[in-house]
Amino acid sequence: MTKTATPFSRPVYLMAKPAGAACNLACTYCYYLEKKHLYAGAGKQLMSDELLETFIRDYIALQTTPNVLFTWHGGEPTLRPIKFYERALELQRKNAAGRHIDNAFQTNGTLINEEWARFFKKNNFLVGLSIDGPQDLHDDFRRAPSGKGSWARVMQTILTLNRHSVEWNAMAVVNNRTAEQPLDFYHFFKEIGCHYIQFTPVVERFYRHPDGRLLAAPTDGAVATMTPFSVTPEAWGHFLCEVFDEWVRHDVGDYFIQLFDSTLAGWMGMTPSVCTLAETCGHAPVMEWNGDVYACDHFVFPEFYLGNIRTTPRKELVQRPELLAFGRDKRDRLTAQCRNCDYLMACHGECPRNRFATSQDGENGHNYLCDGYHRFFSHSAPYMDFMKYMLQHNEAPAKVMEWIADGMPDYRKR
Ligand code: SF4
Ligand code: SF4
Repeated sequence: MTKTATPFSRPVYLMAKPAGAACNLACTYCYYLEKKHLYAGAGKQLMSDELLETFIRDYIALQTTPNVLFTWHGGEPTLRPIKFYERALELQRKNAAGRHIDNAFQTNGTLINEEWARFFKKNNFLVGLSIDGPQDLHDDFRRAPSGKGSWARVMQTILTLNRHSVEWNAMAVVNNRTAEQPLDFYHFFKEIGCHYIQFTPVVERFYRHPDGRLLAAPTDGAVATMTPFSVTPEAWGHFLCEVFDEWVRHDVGDYFIQLFDSTLAGWMGMTPSVCTLAETCGHAPVMEWNGDVYACDHFVFPEFYLGNIRTTPRKELVQRPELLAFGRDKRDRLTAQCRNCDYLMACHGECPRNRFATSQDGENGHNYLCDGYHRFFSHSAPYMDFMKYMLQHNEAPAKVMEWIADGMPDYRKR
């Protein structure tokens, strides 16, 4: 059992999509673009000033902690002008009531210029930049509708952000191609001086919905077919082990890879920073441009609709039985293979959206990436044990590098 005992013992996050699903790129594996079909006939799918005001007031009032985090997501949030976010900041100040407010901004990085960088710096935004490694890997998938790759423009943005000392980190997708070149991929981030990296595996299936959406919902079951760009469980395991081997020997304490940090958190019995490895879900619903709220960014499907912030009282929305059940289901609907797994404390059956495979005992609802995760947890276990021991004795986990160089002597006798 992790330390998060109740759904409200930590902040509720609500990721906002001010430009809906709109984006200036058309990346191969994007699961956002087709969400526009959910609002066919709605014209421009942009958050109104009135909704922005309601959202900011209610979101701040909802928090049970002194710190409030706003996350601006897309589509592509830079499709709204800077003045939209200046208005948001003004409303945050007006409604803060003594709370400390932070802003995070997730972008494809292709529209950021000097003015945006100045704005981010001045207002202390943390920028998450989508970049999938070196040019050939990135441009294979992350392209404009014309087919032109976006890598060169994103690299220009990195220089601009660095010039203005904007804090940014990389969100990197691991797909069928990048998974085959783990070290080239990892070295790229080190070469560009990126010290905070999130690796996210792509797992998407095709399933044609009557409204035009082509990607499967978790409820679409066995009839959906795997997309060619998805990472296989074997490749995911290989990728993680290869990157981990380099990181644990040379980079601990210098480069922060969210998945490795989260694994160590699980080893320690603490709540990880990545939701996929947490015990329960339900802490990060998403709000569409019109105020519609869904249980999670990966569950924006009609069957996971929770209500609209204009019409449903805010407290009711985040305490809806459907949302609480959605959160608990992650823990309560594990297969027997997961429940008996040595690494349940770090994995928790990973993300429910990937639970469409069959377990070794033939049980449905098992995680598709299981073999990859299991291989990684088992491979990293001795090092995680060591780092846990260090933390428990108030020493730096980075000592793992010295320990490996010394031939991994029995540290428990020290
Ligand atoms: S469904 Fe997956 S992505 Fe959504 S909160 Fe749960 S673990 Fe996270
Ligand atoms: S490694 Fe596999 S069996 Fe173990 S908890 Fe994760 S998904 Fe379940």
